Amino acid sequence: MSFEGCKKCSLCNNQSPLVDKRVSADIMWVGLSAKKVEDIGTAIPLSNDTNSGKLIDNIESGLDEFRFIKANLVKCLPLDEHSKLRYPTTNEMKACYSNLKQEINKVKPKIVFLLGMKVSKFILKDIEVTITGLDKKYDYAYFRHKDIYYVSIHHPSYIHIYRRKQIDQYIFGVQSIINEVFNINLTTKKDRDMEIA
Ligand code: SF4
Repeated sequence: MSFEGCKKCSLCNNQSPLVDKRVSADIMWVGLSAKKVEDIGTAIPLSNDTNSGKLIDNIESGLDEFRFIKANLVKCLPLDEHSKLRYPTTNEMKACYSNLKQEINKVKPKIVFLLGMKVSKFILKDIEVTITGLDKKYDYAYFRHKDIYYVSIHHPSYIHIYRRKQIDQYIFGVQSIINEVFNINLTTKKDRDMEIA
């Protein structure tokens, strides 16, 4: 990707952009921001050495027919004054958003899963969708925009920490969306499938 040398904000001083180098995929996972990695050349976002990455891999493992890719909204490493990982600011999200859009345009996924409310609110606002929460039974809604289905889901780390007993329901909910979108019958699709201009 051309943004791999991006220096649009100061976060690149902490770590260069962390990018999954796969060039096409059916399904994209989008987390909030990069974690610290040992080798930026080989590491990928949401890798399976984190609990989030492990849970995502668990979801993927039941769906061998699809190609997946992982990304972050903010591609460099946000650190506080004590060099601890922090949430990115809204300005940092705004600065990096064009990079994610470029990634989506190149990869052309059919589904983009938005992990957690911070990522969801920021990206859905851009397609003029407002959400106030996520379904507690993991019966997620999707929003179609320019032939891409955007789905806000609970962040896997939240599930891992606070809803561990419901991991199977979470996985089932996410996999159900994937199956539903790829088998979609446009004449019978659910009301919740909102077409955004
Ligand atoms: S966080 Fe994003 S906008 Fe900022 S330097 Fe890194 S790639 Fe560029």
